[in-house]
Amino acid sequence: MAEKKETAMDKIVSFCKRRGLIFPTSEIYGGLANSYSYGPYGAELKNNIKKLWWKKFVQKRPDIVGMDGPILLNSKLWEASGHLAGFNDALVDCKKCKKRFRADHVVKELTGEDMEGELEKMTKTLQAGLKCPECGGSDWTEVKNMSQMFKTEMNGVDGAVYLRPETAGAIFSDYKNVVDSMRVKVPFGIAQIGKAFRNEIVARNFIFRIREFEQMEIEYFIEPDADWEPLFDKWLDEQEDFAISIGAKKEDLRRYEHPKAKLSHYSKKTIDTEYNFPFGFGELFGLAHRGDFDLTQHAKFSGQSLDYFDPVANKRYVPHVLEPTVGLDRLVLTAICAGYFEEKLEDGERVVLRFPSAVAPIKVAVFPLMKNKPELVIKAKEIFGSLSEEFMCEFDDNGNVGKRYRRQDEIGTPYCVTIDFETLNDQAVTIRDRDTMTQERIKVAELKNYLTEKLK
Ligand code: ATP
Repeated sequence: MAEKKETAMDKIVSFCKRRGLIFPTSEIYGGLANSYSYGPYGAELKNNIKKLWWKKFVQKRPDIVGMDGPILLNSKLWEASGHLAGFNDALVDCKKCKKRFRADHVVKELTGEDMEGELEKMTKTLQAGLKCPECGGSDWTEVKNMSQMFKTEMNGVDGAVYLRPETAGAIFSDYKNVVDSMRVKVPFGIAQIGKAFRNEIVARNFIFRIREFEQMEIEYFIEPDADWEPLFDKWLDEQEDFAISIGAKKEDLRRYEHPKAKLSHYSKKTIDTEYNFPFGFGELFGLAHRGDFDLTQHAKFSGQSLDYFDPVANKRYVPHVLEPTVGLDRLVLTAICAGYFEEKLEDGERVVLRFPSAVAPIKVAVFPLMKNKPELVIKAKEIFGSLSEEFMCEFDDNGNVGKRYRRQDEIGTPYCVTIDFETLNDQAVTIRDRDTMTQERIKVAELKNYLTEKLK
């Protein structure tokens, strides 16, 4: 029986590099501050999670439409949203080892107290003798705010433009276009997947906290006096269901409600869904009731009316918004951490990623039993050609079949198909199941249907 071992983060990191999932980026040039590239299997994994999310929240929802806005937007938008003035992190340096920290994180780690946003209190607490987690020193700079916005320039535009720090901005700025062109009716949502950029003080824990990441966000517009709490709870459940669908165990998920005192003035409620990563619980999803703050601000700064005329209630209002959001990179990390198992077998050990099949980068691996037998290779290539019309497949003729199974287990491939000498006579192949490691003989003519059924 599979037994889940405690997996240290560094083990996951080196595994991801070794198995072509995620690499440190620009490595030949010495890397770039905690930045990563998705390798061939990582890119598949990430795309699969994206597609699942889009299917669940856009394709299958008559009340939600998708869009794809740009990364660079008019800077007035960030003035309106408050990001230019207030999207800051608290920064503190240890004067002894010169190491830089996010002040609220280091204070929380050392005292357990959440002092986010309280710069003076954090400075006093640190300077009262808290010890630097790196060097044990206790000489701290004052806690200062640092903007998380990445600034750049654009030809033809006066002043700075910014890489978007969240995808939601484009949704609000195109809200009117969507309403006018799509005849959507409140309650409705607009969904978007895309890159966001935050100049985090400390990027850490692999792809959990990076400076360039992908978000999958929905703005769900509701009537101002709608009974929002049941809807809010439903969104929480949908977020949890999604995490479970990519492999997370329910017991590794928990909810954290932001205390009322820490909420922005416009927010009625904010709840994060956290996952139990190898380094501890960390935010995976956010869900916030943001009132009419965003549309009201954008109406004010743009001078355009963003009211909505409700033909059912026969009244005009600024809709309120529920914002379910999630970081795609954090979902990728969740799928990997949840799926990673080290198992003892009778004839050795194996590492296996027990991905749900919809998430697995490769669905079917196709092997000729021996690579120096042209008749087997030709048949295997023919089968690969046919299966790859339907599924992401991999052709592998390196080493013996046992080693190929181990390689496919490590990247979570649910099925391996082997073409052997008998295939040429009986038109059947051996299918091996990743999880049970059992093998079955299936007719080539039935292979596609069999796999379609199994991979559902
Ligand atoms: P955190 O408290 O971890 O910094 P946040 O509350 O600032 O996150 P949101 O602004 O709610 O995050 O962003 C929405 C989602 O984007 C988060 O739930 C998270 O999954 C993801 N996310 C935010 N910052 C990062 C980052 N630096 N790297 C990867 N994903 C991120």
